[in-house]
Amino acid sequence: MARINEHYLKLAGAYLFPEIARRVEAFAALAPELAGRIIRCGVGDVTEPLPASVVAAMHRAVEEMGTREGFRGYGPPWGYDFLRDAIAEGDFRERGIAVDREEIIVSDGSKTDAGAILEIFATGDANRIGITDPVYPVYVDTNVMAGNTGPARPGGSYEGLVPLACTEENGFVPEPPDERLDLVYLCFPNNPTGGMIDRPRLEAWVEWALRHEAIILYDVAYADYVTDPELPRSILEIEDARRCAIEFHSFSKNGGFTGVRCGYTVCPRELRGRTAAGDAVPVLELWKRRWSTRSNSVAYVVQRAAEALYSEAGRRETRALVDGYLANARALREGCAAMGLRVHGGEHAPYVWVGCPDGLDSWGVFDRMLEDLQVVITPGAGFGRLGEGWFRISAFNSPANVAEVVRRMQDAGRLTAAPATG
Ligand code: PLP
Repeated sequence: MARINEHYLKLAGAYLFPEIARRVEAFAALAPELAGRIIRCGVGDVTEPLPASVVAAMHRAVEEMGTREGFRGYGPPWGYDFLRDAIAEGDFRERGIAVDREEIIVSDGSKTDAGAILEIFATGDANRIGITDPVYPVYVDTNVMAGNTGPARPGGSYEGLVPLACTEENGFVPEPPDERLDLVYLCFPNNPTGGMIDRPRLEAWVEWALRHEAIILYDVAYADYVTDPELPRSILEIEDARRCAIEFHSFSKNGGFTGVRCGYTVCPRELRGRTAAGDAVPVLELWKRRWSTRSNSVAYVVQRAAEALYSEAGRRETRALVDGYLANARALREGCAAMGLRVHGGEHAPYVWVGCPDGLDSWGVFDRMLEDLQVVITPGAGFGRLGEGWFRISAFNSPANVAEVVRRMQDAGRLTAAPATG
């Protein structure tokens, strides 16, 4: 009988979102008269339709593929040059950051990239890996699957991963630790806390990484939500970050591509890792080899769609989408404040991070919000041990739904442990 990868068996119970779905379904079955009122502010999935320029580009690409002259078979493993050039220009060179086409690898999204990147690093206990708490759970689970951890600890963390605390006291931005780490995951604007890092603190991380020869895996899935030009949208804005960082980008949260699927990584040419014997090796070469062996990138139609995001109309449309979600986030901040809750995030991110009222833990708040208000939030405990005591409310919704959520919050007043219904 075939042996399985037993690291999968270490993964803690149900993944957060299936458990949320289970509870919502159970509530709807128990109170069918309220099921139609449920508004989902839980999962970080976008709600608004694709930009018109994206739809037009997809149509054009489909038509092309239906002609003998325009047909394309296997695409280049790192993405078409037209898209890599548009990215290099639009996301970097226009902002004064030197990145070129060869350092950009197009993928089907940051979720894929966050897991796949581990294939080019040694597994087991070869690397000391730092992961923030609370955290986007994909970083943790992919390390478990790769065999980089021991068993699960109570509260959802794993032996072998070094937690980097994100707390109200440090503004949800971890300090570089005193110890040596080899790989560190950072994500700003942050999911789940909605927090943002400023330039001096990011510089401190870069300086630390260079000193320890660590690599920072820097996730900027929400880069377009940064509205203050003083705040860094990319770690590559920081001098010398090219020697210590790989950056993950996604078109999901600006272009509405959660269903279309496209993103990319930037792996600077200068970045080096080491062999067990101590020889320095360019990481980009391994990463490119990983893609050319395993993939031919994403569909031509999808890459034309992503390219359209960089057109003048595409930029206008993405800006409008992001601004709409940011307006929702502002309204939700006000709604939560009206309930007397402690509110963070939501200024440079589509997530508002809210303190649980006394007497309720984060699943307790989830149940109260669902049963009393028919609003689905995400319990902070699902994002790590330090997420307990907090919940995340997502601004990915229509303005009308958000206005309704805020109205219900204002009407409800304070959340208490005692159920208001039945
Ligand atoms: N990175 C972070 C921090 C996210 O929150 C998400 C999605 O929620 C992703 C990556 C996934 O992005 P993609 O849709 O490109 O896979």
